[in-house]
Amino acid sequence: MIVTISTTHQPTSDFTYLLHKHPDRFQTKDISFGKAHVFYPAFSEKEATMALLLDINAVDLSRRTQQNYAQSFQLDHYVNTRPYVSSSFLSTALSKVLGSALNGTCKDRPEIVHKALPLVVRLDTLSAKGGEAQIRRLFEPLGYELQLTPLPLDEQFPEWGLSTFYSLELKNTLPLQQLLQHLFVLLPVLDNNKHYFVNESEIEKLLSKGENWLDTHPEKEYITKRYLKYKKSYYQKALTELNPEESASIKNAEKEKLPSLHDQRHEMVADELKTRGIKSVIDLGCGSGKLLRHLIKMPQLEKIGGLEVSFRELEATKKRIYYENMSPKSQERLQLFQGALTYKDERIQSYEAGVLVEVIEHLDPSRLEALETVVFEYGNLSTIIITTPNREYNVLFENLPQDKFRHPDHRFEWTRKEFQDWGNTLAQKFDYEVDYQAIGEEHPLHGGPSQVAIFTKNAKPQAKQNK
Ligand code: SAH
Repeated sequence: MIVTISTTHQPTSDFTYLLHKHPDRFQTKDISFGKAHVFYPAFSEKEATMALLLDINAVDLSRRTQQNYAQSFQLDHYVNTRPYVSSSFLSTALSKVLGSALNGTCKDRPEIVHKALPLVVRLDTLSAKGGEAQIRRLFEPLGYELQLTPLPLDEQFPEWGLSTFYSLELKNTLPLQQLLQHLFVLLPVLDNNKHYFVNESEIEKLLSKGENWLDTHPEKEYITKRYLKYKKSYYQKALTELNPEESASIKNAEKEKLPSLHDQRHEMVADELKTRGIKSVIDLGCGSGKLLRHLIKMPQLEKIGGLEVSFRELEATKKRIYYENMSPKSQERLQLFQGALTYKDERIQSYEAGVLVEVIEHLDPSRLEALETVVFEYGNLSTIIITTPNREYNVLFENLPQDKFRHPDHRFEWTRKEFQDWGNTLAQKFDYEVDYQAIGEEHPLHGGPSQVAIFTKNAKPQAKQNK
């Protein structure tokens, strides 16, 4: 993974002083997950380019990750995109290798720290599940000119289509410190796959690196939530610090009704659909319509479905969303149907994304395979989001006996490893890429109370007609 920063500012020595890196020296620094090399592929009186080459050791990384789980061999621990993609690893490397520049210290030429320089950044591989729009909405408000090139899944097989990776060139005239701060915060936000446990100190990190720009960014809420991994108490604290007056009113409103874990699941799902620019989604096992209530408020969704096995729950959904009072157009946009997820159902196929919030654990394990076939094979969905409780967290529920599940209708509850083993097998079998996240306040040992798997179909299916 390589990133370069270039400037035509003269004298070019200003740039090297700011970076605290001598143009003639090739420097290598050991970091916990590999090596960072810094050098100048180009340096003259007229222009300078600094390169940071990050050599991540996937095997070491895997060993470290596996300490959190029971020891087991999984190929994707060793062969994955982590070494090649700009992510939180790059942010960590930037702070370790270019710490002085990132913190705005330059003893020899303090006057240039705040000087705007013409800068160009090139990132060879950037992961953005939300596509071009997601990258633009993060960088354009900060004045960057972007050149984005989507990368094919495999250069040798163009018919497989494009991946969710991009190469990116960013151009702007600004102080170097600010540019590094932007990269430090926004790269992990795009990638959404932090390599370390997010604890409270991340709030301070975000606020210090976001100083002078994050509070006025139109996407500050989105950036803050993703940077802090949707941990409600953390992002609320950060947003309050960023904008005390605005947050006071939010806080008062929230005092009246604290958002439950279940609300957090729905909020997370809605945000993910928004990020990905999804236009049609079906809520599979929609229950009494708690998620649908959020979805119908999202203008980007042209078509919404709710499928549920229980007639009574469907009636409750209709009441909750005032279905009978909706205009015919709104009723047409939202289709509710009774159906079982264990039987092939063609109606699912006309949606881009499918969501199962706390549904799988209600099925007998022997029926899971049928659900997998219906959703993953016949569903033809480009995005599938599945949430389920994390059993490891149950020890933290004081009133829950050890041998009991959280709900009497739950047929099983999985640990993080069990869920990820299941998800990885499905991803491989049905050709999806999968990411996992915790939902709710995470415990350092037991993880979050709930967990989510987000599946992205590898070869993009044809755009669906929203009939
Ligand atoms: N997703 C909802 C409800 C979760 S409760 C929410 O987030 O609030 C689980 C729901 O899955 C119940 O409403 C149950 O009726 C439904 N369900 C269970 N098995 C199902 C199946 N085989 N097909 C469709 N729905 C099912």
